[in-house]
Amino acid sequence: MGKRYTGEEAIRQLNLRVEKKTQQAVDLCKEGGELDVTYKRVLDYKFDGVWAGRPIYVSRPRFPTYLISGGAISVIIYQAKEMNLPLQYLGAAAVMSYLNYDFFSGVLHVALDDPRNIKLPFIGQAALEFQWHHAIPTDLVDKDFMDVIGDLNIAAFPILAANMIVMDYGRNRMMAIFMAMKLLMAYFGQFSHREAHNIRAGKFSQLLQKVGLMISVKDHKAHHQPPHEDDFCLIGVCNHVLQVMFKLAGHFQYAWLAFFILSCIFDNYILSVMLNHLAVNVSSKDSVETWHGGADSGLPYLYGSLVGSNNNSSFAF
Ligand SMILES: [Zn+2]
Ligand SMILES: [Zn+2]
Repeated sequence: MGKRYTGEEAIRQLNLRVEKKTQQAVDLCKEGGELDVTYKRVLDYKFDGVWAGRPIYVSRPRFPTYLISGGAISVIIYQAKEMNLPLQYLGAAAVMSYLNYDFFSGVLHVALDDPRNIKLPFIGQAALEFQWHHAIPTDLVDKDFMDVIGDLNIAAFPILAANMIVMDYGRNRMMAIFMAMKLLMAYFGQFSHREAHNIRAGKFSQLLQKVGLMISVKDHKAHHQPPHEDDFCLIGVCNHVLQVMFKLAGHFQYAWLAFFILSCIFDNYILSVMLNHLAVNVSSKDSVETWHGGADSGLPYLYGSLVGSNNNSSFAF
């Protein structure tokens, strides 16, 4: 095993490996064959904030991670208290959010593993980084964990902004809780993926892998076999569902992209509706309405404001 680097030096070393692998690929191509788009992009483009290119690995500031995680925990506590949300529903929400994030990570992974998406603006850089992970699978372990979760932060802010509109800036309290949980689950998803590559994974991680709450090394290894079309989910519990979907629609590039973008904006809203229905079935109607801070919040509110009506009672759920 080589020397273990941390911080910016670890990132620099990974970028050196990218250069080396790209050069090897170029040399191989001189004997015939076409250069893969992942190498081509590194050779010909520099990332300019819109279009994908080198460098693949970037050191991330820690402050946004602290801000997002601290903010998410505060939102969950504050909104749950304001709603008098019974603990069992908070628990049910956490389980739903966990399952949803795993499913979402599978959809995201299918979209970002598609080589055609490297050429798209904004999303292209994420696709390039995902596909370089196939070439350097240990990258998640070679760099600091704060850089692994820091990779998500740039995407978190526009997604959060879109969710804020749908949740009527926090008036749909249940959706606000689901959004906050999703941000925390996203960090957990990165942890789960990293531990699947970590030969020094601790006892706790091994236990979670063993009981199936995090993806096992074996299952994730299956994804790393070309053509990388198995086990897309980063936590792993939804892999069977994703596999069926991939068999049906695996190569419909824009279908997966559209599904991914719609999930970014509406999945927490759908979860809040689902939990609400669950509550209606097992609780009194009164408590459910208190949870929502008024039924005219969230998407019904948005729809109401779009059609120029303030009376949203007909859209109450
Ligand atoms: Zn992949
Ligand atoms: Zn991996």
